[in-house]
Amino acid sequence: MTSAGLDDLYRDILLDHYRSPRNRGHLEHANARAEGANPLCGDQIVLELLVDDDGRVVDVAFEGSGCSISQASSSMMTGYVKGRSADEALAGVEAFQRMMVEGEQIDEAFGDIEALAGVRKFPVRVKCASLAWKTLDQALSTRSNGSGPAVPITTDERSTSHA
Ligand code: ZN
Repeated sequence: MTSAGLDDLYRDILLDHYRSPRNRGHLEHANARAEGANPLCGDQIVLELLVDDDGRVVDVAFEGSGCSISQASSSMMTGYVKGRSADEALAGVEAFQRMMVEGEQIDEAFGDIEALAGVRKFPVRVKCASLAWKTLDQALSTRSNGSGPAVPITTDERSTSHA
């Protein structure tokens, strides 16, 4: 038995999102925003959300640069979050982290995102895959606090110089 076929399928899914990212761009009327960075790899993401009065993410866009895993994960994350409530999205962040850290299975609602589970074999790349989801968590947190303009957030725990 070999898992090569599955690995190929997963690689194809990731490359498709990397080459044709979903929801890439800028939102004119975003009311939640966060920036994330993974300096270990040079990955960056700027995430913008439009959340309606019912707490539902009605639109989402991201700009990013970096490795294929970080950008594919960003594209997949935006597809997941669009149309979901903030609570569902935050639960999704937790489920994604459990998949990446503990190898827990994610449910069918995640669809192709399961393709990122293979990254778990490469601990350095887990941060690449997680960046978009941590940034989503930050964007929703800044919104729920309702505390003025969004501030840049880095997920780098070593905290290099803040610009
Ligand atoms: Zn990366």
